[in-house]
Parts: sequence; C-alpha cells; structure tokens
Amino acid sequence: MAQVVQIIPIPAFKDNYIWLIHNNHYAIVVDPGDAAVVNNTLTKLNLTLQTILITHHHQDHIGGVDLLLETHPEAKVFAPKNESYAFAHQPVGEPDTIDLGNWMNTSRVIDVPGHTLGHVAYYIKQNQQEWLFCGDTLFGAGCGRLFEGTPTQMMQSLEKLTALPENTLVFCTREYTLHNINFALTLEPNNQALINRHQQTTDLINLGKPTLPSTIKLELATNPFLRSDSVEIQSSLQLNKPTQLETFSKTRLLRNSY
Ligand code: ZN
Repeated sequence: MAQVVQIIPIPAFKDNYIWLIHNNHYAIVVDPGDAAVVNNTLTKLNLTLQTILITHHHQDHIGGVDLLLETHPEAKVFAPKNESYAFAHQPVGEPDTIDLGNWMNTSRVIDVPGHTLGHVAYYIKQNQQEWLFCGDTLFGAGCGRLFEGTPTQMMQSLEKLTALPENTLVFCTREYTLHNINFALTLEPNNQALINRHQQTTDLINLGKPTLPSTIKLELATNPFLRSDSVEIQSSLQLNKPTQLETFSKTRLLRNSY
C-alpha cells in the first residue's frame, strides 16, 4: 500500500523554511538551521526523526544539526562530499542515490555548485510526484548569490535543475519570492506569466501563506535567471547582442543590490 507522505514548511529565522517530510511516524528534515523549531514540530506531530539532508555548509542550513543529533542520535545525516562538516555524516554527491527508509523512495543527489562550491540538491520521485530540495540554488523567481562559484557554474547548475520534469515541485529555502518577482518585473514588465505570478504571490502573502513550493514549469516562465535568452530582459539590461552568460551575470549583479 502506498504510504501517505506529506511535506510541510517549518518557518525559521526571518524568512527561511526548513522542509519536513513525514508519514505520520517517521520524519526527514532538510537543512535544519534551527533545532528548536524542528523539535517543536516533531513533538507536536509525534514524529521520529530518521534522516537529515544537508544541501550546503551555511550556518542557517546546518546550525541545528548538533542539537538534533543529541536528542535524536539514531538520525542519519547526508551532506555534500565536497564540503567539510564537524558532525558525523555520510558524504554524498553525483551520481549517488540515497536510501531514505522503507517508507520513501530513494533520492538522487545532484551537484549544483555556484552558491557554494560543494552545494548539492536532492531529487525524489514519490507518490507520482517529483520533489526537488534545492537549498540556496534556485529560489522562487530567483537564484542564490554566488558566494563561492562563478556565473558559469551557477548557470550550468540551474540548467541541470530545469532539465527535470516540468511538474517537479521545487522546495526553495527562502520566502524571497515576492521581492524576486518585483525585481524580475523591472527586467520583463510585459511577461504575462510573471504579472500573473505577482498577483498570485501577493494573494498568498496577504493570506499569510508560503509562496512555495514552486514548479520547474513556473520558474522557466517567470524566473529571470532561467530566461537569459529573453529579448525583453536583454533590452532592459541595455546589452547589445549579449551571450546568455553575460545576461545572467548582469542580472545577478543587479539583483545583488536590488
Ligand atoms: Zn546559503
């Protein structure tokens, strides 16, 4: 019998989400930057923490791991093999698939350098759905800052993610969507899909609801970092016959100060 598996966002810090996958018994958390909010949810839903997935080494993604392992020593941690971590973990990277217990299908690990050099994403097919946990690589209508990698690396990483099936649900880690859409509208004010998304996102925010998950299809239609071939974006950037890399790089630079 198919297991009923749910995914819920746990708000953390100012605008982070820690995603929690559960079947009413076992739980998996992705990037637990804060142990207290995760423990509150585990207790409230009476869940046993089985697995911790880490996408990259930034503190707001790993800050809760040590405390969670103290209270849940049986939990297994998976973290990128190209980064170093002080806590016990199994290092993962392409082309690994990882076992998430008998109530879940396996997860594929995808290397997505750019935001950090070792950054990975986790892709899971479950319940006739596809799920992507992409850390700080892809955001709703945006992408992560290039702290360690180059624009070329980030573009290639984003291309890997957008090659996934278009209905893949994208579980981003930040509530940046509306701000990103406002920025995107400065570059592509006539993009009807973007205008529609602005309205839908504003409605969600007004209802106090998360604007995530997104989908690959929606991101391809509205995310300026995936639309470097858009003539309207190139024209807004005042670039003359630019390469997609030049368009991407200038978009990233402008967003840094938006
Ligand atoms: Zn980060």
